[in-house]
Amino acid sequence: MEIILSDLQIPNFPVYSEPIKANRKTTSIKDRPVIVGFGPAGMFAALELIDYGLKPLIFERGKKIEERSVDVQKFIKEREINPESNIQFGEGGAGSYSDGKLFSRRNNNSSYVNRVLKTFIKFGAPEEIGYISKPHLGTDVLRTIVRNIRSYILERGGEIYYGSKMTDILISEGKASGIIINGEKEYLSSSIYIALGHSARDTFEMMHEKGVAIEQRPISVGVRIEHPVETINLMRYGDKYKDFPGLGAAAYSLNYTNRKIQRGVYTFCMCPGGEVINASSNQGMLVLNGMSYSHRSSAFSNAALVVTCRADDYKSTGPLAGLEFQKDIERKAFDAGGGRWEAPAQNLMDFLGESSSVGLNKNSYKMGTVSADMKDIFPAFVVEELLAAFNKWKEEVPLFVSNHAILLGAETRTASPVRIKRNEKLESVNIKNLYPIGEGSGYTGGITSSAADAIKAVEINVSRFIPC
Ligand SMILES: Cc1cc2nc3c(=O)[nH]c(=O)nc-3n(C[C@H](O)[C@H](O)[C@H](O)COP(=O)(O)OP(=O)(O)OC[C@H]3O[C@@H](n4cnc5c(N)ncnc54)[C@H](O)[C@@H]3O)c2cc1C
Repeated sequence: MEIILSDLQIPNFPVYSEPIKANRKTTSIKDRPVIVGFGPAGMFAALELIDYGLKPLIFERGKKIEERSVDVQKFIKEREINPESNIQFGEGGAGSYSDGKLFSRRNNNSSYVNRVLKTFIKFGAPEEIGYISKPHLGTDVLRTIVRNIRSYILERGGEIYYGSKMTDILISEGKASGIIINGEKEYLSSSIYIALGHSARDTFEMMHEKGVAIEQRPISVGVRIEHPVETINLMRYGDKYKDFPGLGAAAYSLNYTNRKIQRGVYTFCMCPGGEVINASSNQGMLVLNGMSYSHRSSAFSNAALVVTCRADDYKSTGPLAGLEFQKDIERKAFDAGGGRWEAPAQNLMDFLGESSSVGLNKNSYKMGTVSADMKDIFPAFVVEELLAAFNKWKEEVPLFVSNHAILLGAETRTASPVRIKRNEKLESVNIKNLYPIGEGSGYTGGITSSAADAIKAVEINVSRFIPC
């Protein structure tokens, strides 16, 4: 079902007019804080800076969410990827096309997470996200919230530049003094928040060349597994309650650990009543992810099923080796899918039987699937660990490991494969005035944690702008 933005009922929010926190003196600042990237981290850094009476300059390589949605639909229909405007890049960041799960694996109860949830409610999220255990928004609600946050920032003097990619950083004697946009325009600032997300490969490469301290980081890779929603509801709710009204599409979380070799297999970013989507951002490299709308009512439920990787799985110890590892798998997935963005797929029972599928199970992936062998896409250890996990789960969750399931390739962007090294002030360890935040920093992941990380970074570093 395609969402026509004009159809979306934009609830009329009370114009937010809470006075700027009185105890924070606004200042006439010589240079304005700069934010690179307008995903959850960039958005919350901007909101926090505005709370201190500052007027950030925000640069986003992608487009406004309305135009971005047109590009995403165009990609699905005409199979022409726009490397600057897609599921990863554009206003609202990667999170805008997601299930919008707002819970994090790490610190659900931190005050920062609560502030993030409160802010989402302020900009239009349902109140219940403030008290239910596993809150989720859905992509339709997220996009409305992104527009409201945009208006709020602009109304308070923030400036947002779209189609504006940071292509260089001005660094001298270990200090950043500004950035270059689109290879031409210079913006000076002594406070640069780098909120790039996990897919800004060209920018990571540029920062590495510029001498910003970066290191490689282990990630997890694997498949997206999908079942009919009834199968998962039966698995989770049982025969008696599988159709119980109000229960909604069931969620699950599975993990398996091979203690001998210290590798794990786990489900990630599960989308009940959602769909498998093409989350690629580079020509010829196919990566999948999942999303859902607020009502989670599709006929399928899916999740990433990934295997933990180690630094020695990468071809070198270089800081960008993880990026190359990802690219390698994504290229193989693109080719195994036939090279027109169809997804390589294999019915689970054929994967276990080590045979390729003749008829593929129905699935939610809009760009089509092609029968393929997962062995042709992933390193051997990934296939072995997936097989081991399925063989373990065969007894425990027979409906999960059944002929209802299909595997689609490939899930590679579960986290950032690089870490931009930072100190306890969340500042780069070797370049002053540079604050790597959010998923692209390599220290956090997920919508809520990335936003919380941004709030923290501003809180720690804004004092330089506020005269005592
Ligand atoms: C399909 C999908 C579903 C997901 N589902 C969930 C979910 O349900 N729950 C959850 O918690 N997380 C989910 N995630 C992960 C979540 O989206 C990210 O963890 C989160 O968005 C990270 O926020 P961020 O601001 O750090 O980075 P991002 O959201 O990735 O934003 C980074 C922004 O920086 C911009 N940028 C990059 N390079 C440059 C440059 N050089 N110059 C200017 N701008 C630049 C990008 O265009 C992008 O808009 C999902 C991700 C995807 C792709």
